[in-house]
Formats: sequence, structure tokens, C-alpha cells
Amino acid sequence: MIDFELTDDHESLVQTVREFAGREVAPHIKEWDEKQQFNRAILNKMAELNLLGVCVPEEWGGAGFDYVSLGLVCEELEYVDTSLRVIMSVHTGLNCLTLYSWGTDAQKQKYLAPQAKGEKIATYGLTEPGAGSDVVGARSVARREGDEWVLNGEKMWISLADVADNFLFFCWTDEEKRRKRDHTGMSCFIVERTMPGFSSGTIHGKMGIRAGNTGYFSLQDVRVPAANMVGEEGEGFKIAMFALEQGRYTVAAGATGVIRASRDASVAYAKERETFGVKIANHQLVKQKIAEMEADYQMARLLWLRAGWLKNEGRPNGRATSLAKWQATVRSEKAASMAIEVHGANGYSNDYPVERYLRNCKAAVIYEGTRDIHTLMQADWALGLKSEKPARVTLPPYRPTESREAVAAD
Ligand SMILES: Cc1cc2nc3c(=O)[nH]c(=O)nc-3n(C[C@H](O)[C@H](O)[C@H](O)COP(=O)(O)OP(=O)(O)OC[C@H]3O[C@@H](n4cnc5c(N)ncnc54)[C@H](O)[C@@H]3O)c2cc1C
Repeated sequence: MIDFELTDDHESLVQTVREFAGREVAPHIKEWDEKQQFNRAILNKMAELNLLGVCVPEEWGGAGFDYVSLGLVCEELEYVDTSLRVIMSVHTGLNCLTLYSWGTDAQKQKYLAPQAKGEKIATYGLTEPGAGSDVVGARSVARREGDEWVLNGEKMWISLADVADNFLFFCWTDEEKRRKRDHTGMSCFIVERTMPGFSSGTIHGKMGIRAGNTGYFSLQDVRVPAANMVGEEGEGFKIAMFALEQGRYTVAAGATGVIRASRDASVAYAKERETFGVKIANHQLVKQKIAEMEADYQMARLLWLRAGWLKNEGRPNGRATSLAKWQATVRSEKAASMAIEVHGANGYSNDYPVERYLRNCKAAVIYEGTRDIHTLMQADWALGLKSEKPARVTLPPYRPTESREAVAAD
């Protein structure tokens, strides 16, 4: 069964997001980027459109769309600005889908449902000042005291750190295993901003995603009930990797939007700018750049759509998602850079959007697994050194609810 058609549901969602981002964000994004200003009101508008829980089942407060819809939202949002897609990545991809898959019913009721409705904003805290790719190099710890856990640690480079209400926090719960770098000594907890001992701040001076919030948070003797542990004790590393599989998918789809935006800006400029008495669209080397952007767009889109389809089917997709993320992000950087060249000196100024595309998309080559990490993983998969092992918990396949089926039948 191969079907390359989007459903009517998908098409109308794309239209909604396109109109929203075009109306509410595109006219202001240059100013927000220049002022390094995160616009909180955007979160409320995304919540009103049910975007923040787009692929969370209605039962848990979401809109009940499939996982391909999550990708479509990300591609459309990042077509306008990366900061919008980052919200979807950390809130919906990394946090909500993790709670949906690994959370207890009580956790879903208390945390997932308000998050899916956009009443609470959530993010994901794995990286530390001394540990990014090397997850087991983390120093954050938790110790058990009766029915509570006492959490301590510093998380760095966290998207929405200074904005979010709820956080996934990864740390060591077994000191012996920490010394041996045995990842089965790590666990995952839900932390709320309002808990005593929580503090956060914003990182300034970023190269890109300046309209987004990126920061750090610190936990000092933060007490959480034992019920706030996600999964079982010792499953933190697996949960972190599971979450990244969902986050990487959103990053792949978003980076695909950057390639399309770079192509469209280049096409528009090439049809207008004249040199040597002709539109620059007539010069073969300009055409070549546009052709490469088009090819990269189509390839990147097919890769993330395939990963989304695998998610819908409930099939293993770690390898496909990693490939989609790796290829879309490196190709987005290439597309944005070429788009600047197509614009000549104008591309080097923020009078045109393409320099922002390049500053923004560079981060995606680094986060959620650097280019190097994905290159090595893909090589290991190809060499048979790595495999997708059966997991205790997997992302539930997409099951349309009656109301979604009724929409599809209309
Ligand atoms: C804008 C932004 C937002 C972010 N948001 C979040 C967030 O919401 N939550 C979160 O937890 N984190 C977030 N991060 C952090 C991000 O995930 C890390 O930066 C990333 O994992 C890389 O870690 P690092 O920066 O410590 O680099 P390092 O791990 O120190 O890597 C440095 C260099 O060494 C290379 N390298 C490292 N190990 C290997 C190896 N084994 N083999 C080959 N090469 C290697 C890397 O590829 C890289 O080139 C964000 C980062 C940015 C820039």
C-alpha cells in the first residue's frame, strides 16, 4: 500500500497553520528576531488552534490528528520561523508524546491533558553544561526520601526554559551506576516551575532562533512525589532516547520547511533581480542552486513523511527518523546558504529573510543529535552494528477516533 496523497484533514490543517503563521508571525518576525523577543501571546494562539496537542488523542486533551499532521504543522511553522517549530518540538514532540507513551493515567490526567490543551507549556531537560551528546556524563542526581525524591542539578541549553510550566528532568538515581557510566542508573521526573528550589534563566547572545526562548534551569533540593517519576526507576536513559525519536521527527519536518522557504525566496528574487540585462533566473548557476533546493526539499519531505507513516503504523522508526533529521538539517543549512548567494549582497542583510534562515537552521544541525552523532548511527545501522531493539514502551500507533473518522468521511 503506497499512498502519496495527504488527506482532506491534512490539507485543511496545513491551510490553518499557513494562515496563522502568515498573519500572526510573518509581519513581525524581523522585529522579534532583532529585539531577541519571545512573544508569549503566540503560545495562546497556537493553543487556540489546538496545535500544541495536535497528535495527542482527544481523550487526553489533544486534537486527535495523526503523526503526519505533527510533521505538517512543523514544516509550515518553520517555513515562517524556527522559533515556532521549536515550541512544537519540545512541548509536543519531546514532552507530550513521552507522557502519552510512558506516563501513568494519573500523570496523563494531571500533566498531559492541560499541556495538550495548551493550558500549560512543557519542555525537556536533558543537556547540562558538561554533558550534551554524552548523556551519561550528566551530573544531576535524585535521592529517595520516603514517598518523595529530592532532585538536584543544572540543565543548560533548554528550549523554553524560562517560559515552560512543566519539565522532564533526567538524572542519576543510582550513584554506583553513575560511577560506572551505566545508563540504567538514570531516571526521569516531571518537575513543575512552582516547586520550591526551581529557578531558571535565559541565554542571551544566540546566533539564531532569537525570537525563541533558550535557557537554563537549576534544581536545588526540589522535592517531587514518587508519583512524578516517569517510567520505572532506571529507565531514564531509554525515555530520553524515546523522546528524542519524537523530537527529531519534528526537527526533520521543520528543517524541510526551511529548505522550501529558501527555495521560494530564491525563486521570487531570481525572477525580479536583473544583471547583464536579464533576470538572474536565466543564469545557469542560479538555476542550479534553485534546482538543488528543489531536489533537497523533495528528498527531505519524503524522508520525514516516511518516518511519520511508520509512527502512524506503530512500527520501529528510530533509523528512519534519524536519517530524516540528519539529511533535512544539513540540507537546510545548504539551502539557506545558497539562498543568501542567490540574493547577492541583499542576502547578507536582514532586509531579506534568508540570513535569518541560515542563523536559525544551524542549531538544528547540533541539537537532538549532532550531525556527527547521526552520521555515526547511520553508518552503524548500515554496517549491522546497531539495530532497533524491541522496547518495553513504544509510541502508540495512530487510531482515529470516531469524530476524526466523521471529519474524514465528510
Ligand atoms: C538552540 C538550542 C536549543 C536546545 N534545546 C535543548 C532542549 O530543549 N533540551 C535539551 O536537553 N537540550 C537542548 N539543546 C542542547 C543540544 O541537544 C546539545 O547542544 C547537543 O546534544 C550537543 O551537545 P553539546 O552542545 O554538549 O556538544 P558536545 O556533545 O560537547 O559535542 C561537541 C562536538 O563534538 C562532537 N562529538 C561529541 N561526541 C562525539 C562522538 N562520540 N563522536 C563523534 N563526534 C562527537 C559533536 O558532534 C560536536 O561536533 C539545545 C541546543 C541549542 C543550540
